[in-house]
Amino acid sequence: MIRRLVKSGLAGGMRWSGASLLKRTLRHRSGAPWIAGYHRVVEDFRRSSENSIAATLISRGMLERHLEWIGRRFDFVSLDDIGSRLERGQRPRRPLAAVTFDDGYSDVYEHAFPILRRRGIPAAVFVLTDLVGTSRVPLFDWLYLLLDRAWKVWPSPMQGLARIFADLGLEMVATDGTPDASPGPLRIMRILLETLPQSPLERLASALQAEVGVEECVQDERRPLTWEMLVEMQRAGITIGSHSRTHPLLTREDREKILEETAGSKRDLEARLGITVRHFAYPNGWFNAATVRAVEAAGYRCAYTSCRHRDPAHPLLTLSRTLLWENSGLGAFGGFSPAVMGCQADGTFDRVALCPLDHWN
Ligand SMILES: [Zn+2]
Ligand SMILES: [Zn+2]
Repeated sequence: MIRRLVKSGLAGGMRWSGASLLKRTLRHRSGAPWIAGYHRVVEDFRRSSENSIAATLISRGMLERHLEWIGRRFDFVSLDDIGSRLERGQRPRRPLAAVTFDDGYSDVYEHAFPILRRRGIPAAVFVLTDLVGTSRVPLFDWLYLLLDRAWKVWPSPMQGLARIFADLGLEMVATDGTPDASPGPLRIMRILLETLPQSPLERLASALQAEVGVEECVQDERRPLTWEMLVEMQRAGITIGSHSRTHPLLTREDREKILEETAGSKRDLEARLGITVRHFAYPNGWFNAATVRAVEAAGYRCAYTSCRHRDPAHPLLTLSRTLLWENSGLGAFGGFSPAVMGCQADGTFDRVALCPLDHWN
């Protein structure tokens, strides 16, 4: 709530300065396209957020409001269009925007695709190629589900987690440097994800599953897209990009794993869909020199992050996006606020919450 008040205070202050949103958008972005990033699209945000990471959800109704707002101020373009315009250094007459969906959940097909098709919006989906057509949940989401369950049923969850860590011979990651007496499941998941490579995380998830379990219906809500859905979406003008094979944080992995996840996922998609895949979204938005090189060597034309850092030597391989969810466009009193959306679009909030990562090592 405090964050929302600060955000809407900022947005209100900027509106009172008298500059029109459109002018500000053009000035701040100097003609560079705005790329919005979503994840899951659900019917009922409140219900789904009871056992999901809220910041990965947007309801169908709110997505429609976002798209309506964006469409009034920007021309929607495809990611290929953005790539060509940036390569040619062409400045558009009206600001441009693109819309992307990460992680490849089938709710995007169910809830977002009909809206995109009706409005003729050339969006993109970034899929995890090992998960397409399976019932597997992406590891970070699976870990969150298990931790959320453990936090609900264990009397002292931190002790329970410490015991599992000891059983697995893993070192307990207690903090990321910020003192927090009682971190919740989301914070623990983030710390684990950002600290450990994928293989110990998988062992941890199996051990948690053996202890707390998660019912099939909960997994079912997170079912990945199928190859048939991807074919249908691609034929309707949706760009299919890679988000790796299994969503590891590439900066935490070795060379071989990075190669599999970047070049391997491109090959998987191209073989199954018979298309050329030009776009890659870094899992968690994390990149460094080695991952950018791997993405370039794999033959991707553009790659997408989720912060404002760009590699001047590889500007098309470090294109920034604004990640949006249900509450991103809400004002202080909980209603949709065009002023807050304006700040999302011109990057005001990105500058407030600066990315702490060192991408160059
Ligand atoms: Zn992702
Ligand atoms: Zn950054």
